[in-house]
Amino acid sequence: MFRSQSTLATTTPPADAPSVGLVTTAPALSIVAPCYNEEAGVGELARRIRAVCASMALDDYEVVLVNDGSRDATWVRIQALVAEYPQMVGVNLSRNHGHQLALSAALAICQGERILIIDADLQDPPELLPRMMELMDAGADVVYGQRSERKGESAFKLLTAGVFYRFLSALTDVHIPVDTGDFRLMTRKALNVLLSMPEQHRFIRGMVSWIGMRQVPVAYVREARFAGTTKYPIRKMIRFAIDAITGFSVKPLRLASYAGAAFAAVGVAIMAHSLYDWWTNNAVPGWTSLMGVVLMMGSVQLLVLGVIGEYLGRLYIESKRRPLFVVESVMRHPPE
Ligand code: UDP
Ligand code: MG
Repeated sequence: MFRSQSTLATTTPPADAPSVGLVTTAPALSIVAPCYNEEAGVGELARRIRAVCASMALDDYEVVLVNDGSRDATWVRIQALVAEYPQMVGVNLSRNHGHQLALSAALAICQGERILIIDADLQDPPELLPRMMELMDAGADVVYGQRSERKGESAFKLLTAGVFYRFLSALTDVHIPVDTGDFRLMTRKALNVLLSMPEQHRFIRGMVSWIGMRQVPVAYVREARFAGTTKYPIRKMIRFAIDAITGFSVKPLRLASYAGAAFAAVGVAIMAHSLYDWWTNNAVPGWTSLMGVVLMMGSVQLLVLGVIGEYLGRLYIESKRRPLFVVESVMRHPPE
């Protein structure tokens, strides 16, 4: 029924296809979703996507589901969906690569003229697709979902996400819209630019903003997860935030120099004061202030070193030029 490929799929026709008169037409739409331990949700995701496409009388589409090294039965479920529906494409990564790289794999493999990025947990409603298509028909290159409300999230997640998006937009020169995830519809033209960006630490929503072209928001209510729990514990959220900041701004390095200059000025003032005390024979044993200055200078230096280290580490990893992800297999129905 379906074919399994061991290499990364491209738009080139399969070797066994007849070469004369072959017209390989790309589907009008690709819907791509990274899936990590989403066994309870992928079936419902496929059902809702199919229902939306049916309501739009859209037949010419594909759904690319990427299994990001799940430890549950997600891949088994995806395989069953591929066997059942000709529009489904299953991609199995060699291990867990993380959300942004799994999504990058999906984007590299999908073939559609328009591409919808969606989370597998149904927090982003597929039912928004018709509205997004309308905006794209009206000339947008990217239609991004902007969360007007987030249901089923902890107060902590709402607060940290709110602070993060605003902090990021203050740090970067690229306009990265606030309260916006990866849920978006893109043209192939915009996607091709995204695919040409080779960085390892990917903050895809920011990279798409960087592209420019015509990008328009569409407000939506972010639902609670359909099933399962978030795959972004605090540790991953912090790493993601640092990826975003370092990927889009060198301002932390500049701030480090400003901090250095400010503390140097304070140091000169303290030194002048001490010299004056010494000159006027008023020097006192200043254990507390000495300890204060030593500790403060030490921690500032470590902090600045840490900031430099973050950039240096990323530079090192980039310099290895490893592939972003490893695809173990791709399953899809052969073209008819
Ligand atoms: N995800 C993934 N690999 C990971 C972590 C997450 O493919 O290592 C997928 C996950 O299955 C979901 C999407 O990325 O489709 C967003 O993750 P999640 O819903 O856990 O994030 P949240 O919505 O809580 O920020
Ligand atoms: Mg989610």
